Amino acid sequence: MKKSYSELLDKELLSFVDPNTGMLSVAHSSMIDCPICETSSLRQRELFIKRGYRFVLCAGCGLIFSNPSIHNEANRALYDQAPSIKCWSEILQTQDQRGKDLCLYSSLIALTSKLVKHNAPRCLDISMRAGLAAGLFKKRGWKSDFYDFSKYTRELGKRKLPRVRFYDSFDSIVKAKNTYDVVVSMEAMEHFANPSFFMENVSKILAKGGIFCGFVSNVESMLVRVMGSEAPLFDGLYQKFFFHTGSLKALFKEFNFIPKNFKTFIPALEKTEKFFNRMLPERLSAFSRADMAKIFRVIKESDTLGYKLLFVAKKLK
Ligand SMILES: [Zn+2]
Repeated sequence: MKKSYSELLDKELLSFVDPNTGMLSVAHSSMIDCPICETSSLRQRELFIKRGYRFVLCAGCGLIFSNPSIHNEANRALYDQAPSIKCWSEILQTQDQRGKDLCLYSSLIALTSKLVKHNAPRCLDISMRAGLAAGLFKKRGWKSDFYDFSKYTRELGKRKLPRVRFYDSFDSIVKAKNTYDVVVSMEAMEHFANPSFFMENVSKILAKGGIFCGFVSNVESMLVRVMGSEAPLFDGLYQKFFFHTGSLKALFKEFNFIPKNFKTFIPALEKTEKFFNRMLPERLSAFSRADMAKIFRVIKESDTLGYKLLFVAKKLK
């Protein structure tokens, strides 16, 4: 399944590349200033070009993003129609992946529940996991709605959770002002057209003192350090923004959120060797079991090198 996903993705990435220039087509993209701190595109350092997509580092806040950036309309349409998205949604439903995601959500809910004031907080789950977090919240007696940005997982979630309220578009969520005590974004924010637009709206729908939490891929992870630009998170078409603790702090500050927790080593995922083995088998074959054990010890001790970055932040105003 993984192989056919990467083949589909390669094809879709190529469909936006101009054959004359070998770069992302100007008809579908534009240069943008940093969406967090507005540093001009002229002050962004080019890091690398991958499959015709250019990746830059913002000198102001440390955000890494693809620039030129694909137009929002083209990107939105892909989430409802692209074969790679359907394939990825199916991968997310496999038992192996669901188990891993449940571990992630459990770590997150354990941290978040300490900060929640009400006994029955109102939550919103934003992901491509067919309402997995919404289901967990329900089991705890918390109220929960969900929004999945892939049409496929949205429909699946509706069937699995018939009594849970769902949103059909992000635009419709925005109307729910001061409604939620907790908003969870599981690898969602980095896929939106603009992380500031996303945060601004999360801020609007959260009540005062509300919690915004979730996971992003960690751009400082050991995986990225070993693989560099070849790390699978860098596609530029679907995943466009790449965070570390510093750039997330800058984003939270901009919207009056105070960070409460950052974590990259998730104890529940201690067996992530399997993940690394699948993602870079030829490079890892050079490492012995003892080497791998050392690598994971370094990840655990540093708590900045894990491949996912967990965050919990509180809205101040
Ligand atoms: Zn910036």
